[in-house]
Amino acid sequence: MKKVLITGAAGFLGSHLCDRFINEGYSVIGMDNFITGDEKNLVHLENHPNFQFINHDVTEFVSIEGDLDYILHFASPASPIDYLKIPIQTLKVGSLGTHNLLGLAKAKGARILIASTSEVYGDPLVHPQTEDYYGNVNTIGPRGVYDEAKRFQESITMAYHRFHGLETRIVRIFNTYGPRMRLNDGRVIPAFMGQALRGEDLTIFGDGSQTRSFCYVDDQVEGIYRLLLSDYAEPVNIGNPHEITIKEFAEEIIKLTGTTQKVIYQDLPINDPLQRQPDISLAKKLLGWVPKVDRSEGMKITFDYFKSLTEEELYKSEHKDFKSHIKV
Ligand code: NAD
Ligand code: UDP
Repeated sequence: MKKVLITGAAGFLGSHLCDRFINEGYSVIGMDNFITGDEKNLVHLENHPNFQFINHDVTEFVSIEGDLDYILHFASPASPIDYLKIPIQTLKVGSLGTHNLLGLAKAKGARILIASTSEVYGDPLVHPQTEDYYGNVNTIGPRGVYDEAKRFQESITMAYHRFHGLETRIVRIFNTYGPRMRLNDGRVIPAFMGQALRGEDLTIFGDGSQTRSFCYVDDQVEGIYRLLLSDYAEPVNIGNPHEITIKEFAEEIIKLTGTTQKVIYQDLPINDPLQRQPDISLAKKLLGWVPKVDRSEGMKITFDYFKSLTEEELYKSEHKDFKSHIKV
């Protein structure tokens, strides 16, 4: 039985990846320190014979007993609200955390896939974004802590590949959504759906003309799975190219949720990218991968998930006191 370590396992994507690898017959070790994740996302795997969980901060030395075939490094705050609240932890998990996991992969002779992001393109001047675009990032802006951590993560991963001959994979993930996102993580889909469920107005940042392209989680997991098993070491975009403005998206959410609330406009966060759409030609060619789930279908499943949350979860405005939880 092949063994895989998944960091960020209690988070949105990490928990779906644990499910996928368990279903494929792997032995899975999930690792997380719960800084933005939730135990609830893994509760169904608690007694599974092929699942083990380790509560650990990956910025500290990571040690695993026995053999390891694959590592998927997904630990990192991922929502702009989260990484603005815990900027140093964000920089550390992308840099020190990645270094620890690359060292572990080298020691075990394991293949490692790291979760990069469309944010490496910053506020892109090339549209749609192809993997050969170097990006437009403000290193010292508030989002720089995430963007630069991920750019460093890519660099150190390629250095381990080139210098140590390590088998590495890099996925550049574009906005992905689905069940198990945290309702209060500030990302636009949980934000709008939470507002609709609480009977609040939907907050559009800026004039809503900025665009995003949303990928359903099952499609994202399929792309990541195929990339891991491929033999391609350079970055690959995985996302859904169906682009929409945030204003149009708010209208879709109003229709889907049946809310009678209106939209209100707030300031656009600094360096919020004005456009984003993945060019997925490389993923199509290399992996034979294309997204299959339409936004209307994926949004309906996601809204059903948010509707199933308790009143307490719906009204919880803060995830946790980040300051008392972390060491920076
Ligand atoms: P998430 O916040 O739901 O999950 C991240 C998980 O990592 C959480 O469970 C958190 O507790 C854990 N974590 C953070 N720092 C840690 C540390 N030092 N040690 C151990 N665990 C730690 O976010 P997500 O959306 O599931 O994102 C997962 C990964 O995918 C991240 O690396 C993110 O940058 C990347 N990504 C996600 C998206 C997306 O749209 N969801 C887009 C681009 C990139
Ligand atoms: N956004 C918004 N209202 C919200 C939350 C987000 O208009 O309540 C906007 C945000 O400014 C950005 C887009 O929605 O332009 C996507 O934001 P998100 O935080 O989901 O992810 P990003 O793609 O910016 O990392």
